[in-house]
Amino acid sequence: MEKYDYLIVGSGLFGATFAHMAHKAGKKCLVIDRRPQLGGNVYCDKVEGINVHKYGAHIFHTSNKKVWDFVNSIVEFNRYTNSPVANYKGKYYNLPFNMNTFNEMWGTTTPEAAQAKIDEQKAEAVEAMKAAGAAEPRNLEEQALTLIGRDIYEKLIKGYTEKQWGRKCTELPAFIIKRLPVRLVYDNNYFNDTYQGIPIGGYNKLVEGLLNGVETMTGVDFLKMNCQRTKDGEWTFDIPAESATQKQQATARKLVYTGQIDEYFGFKLGHLNFRTVRFETEVIDKPNYQGNAVVNYTDREVPYTRVIEHKHFEMFGQQVYDYPKTVVSREYSTEWKPGMEPYYPVNDERNNALANDYRALAEKEENVIFGGRLAEYKYYDMAPVIESAIRSFHAE
Ligand code: FAD
Repeated sequence: MEKYDYLIVGSGLFGATFAHMAHKAGKKCLVIDRRPQLGGNVYCDKVEGINVHKYGAHIFHTSNKKVWDFVNSIVEFNRYTNSPVANYKGKYYNLPFNMNTFNEMWGTTTPEAAQAKIDEQKAEAVEAMKAAGAAEPRNLEEQALTLIGRDIYEKLIKGYTEKQWGRKCTELPAFIIKRLPVRLVYDNNYFNDTYQGIPIGGYNKLVEGLLNGVETMTGVDFLKMNCQRTKDGEWTFDIPAESATQKQQATARKLVYTGQIDEYFGFKLGHLNFRTVRFETEVIDKPNYQGNAVVNYTDREVPYTRVIEHKHFEMFGQQVYDYPKTVVSREYSTEWKPGMEPYYPVNDERNNALANDYRALAEKEENVIFGGRLAEYKYYDMAPVIESAIRSFHAE
């Protein structure tokens, strides 16, 4: 009988980081994943020599030096700077909203002129809202209009947000948009963080590095491992062998669970909802399709929200042309149904309350660590997930 310290369910960044820390501390771990490959959502397929972000484009960014040093100790990162552009009915605007955007929108060239234009449109929106009898924004549309004014809202926010949520901005709650920062400088760098980049050689290198020396199994579903608690509070489970008749029993002192929290409890309180994204990925027979990794389509008529051209995350200058083909993914934001990839938690009242009920059940589970975006039902960027996995291990 194999004896593990940890059975780790899920090889995403939470599971892989936890396994890395535990392995370094001399603990014996088994990492399983139900997908055919390791890495969770950061996994990349290699297509035409290009790393294709299979589960959505991932850009690593953080201001936490410890996390940045940690990931760079596993694999070196490049200096990719995210600077998406928006396409509204064929015209291009820089993002995030900055002096370039305002120049493209209104032809303004000075910070004062841009600010005056924004203030004028904000004031119009506040007046219109008051005339309609509202003291505070009643929905996302009013919130955005009073924060940024009509032109930017209609061209760069409205259609994109409606596609993302599958609902009209007038039907979405105001709190979804808390702030709409504007920059009165010519700076297209999307993130404010000190560090950002992509692992050189791709995210699979990061995951391989984290899991170096750790026992892993893919295509294995935790829910089918007959995992049971022993009377000592440990876990026994079946390790699937080549032949179904040769299952091998194993034990683990603790479980690290990074799958969906509602699934762990057999959905006994109901299903938590998500939004998901459908990707349409295409190889194009030219070296450079859109000249940028990320182009947002902000009008309602184009059915997709973004087009990602994967090579621009890792290839720069002449390198782009050294590869004759390119790979693009169109992203369609879609309502999630069981069986689809759960991507974004829906933080409305019903789901928040249900998630809290599941968390209360999780707290009573002995010898289980629930971690990561699915088990915590929380939108998490990569750096905070890594930080949280390291913290969880240190709490052991
Ligand atoms: P996951 O990566 O989802 O890993 C969980 C793993 O558990 C999966 O591989 C799953 O197959 C496995 N699993 C689940 N249930 C079982 C079971 N029963 N048995 C076996 N295995 C199981 N973050 C950024 O910092 N920058 C970005 O640009 C960015 N872009 C994103 C784009 C999209 C579309 C999405 C959805 C997220 C993005 N993120 C980004 C967030 C990032 O993906 C997460 O922070 C990170 O992947 C979370 O890691 P995790 O280990 O919690 O979850």
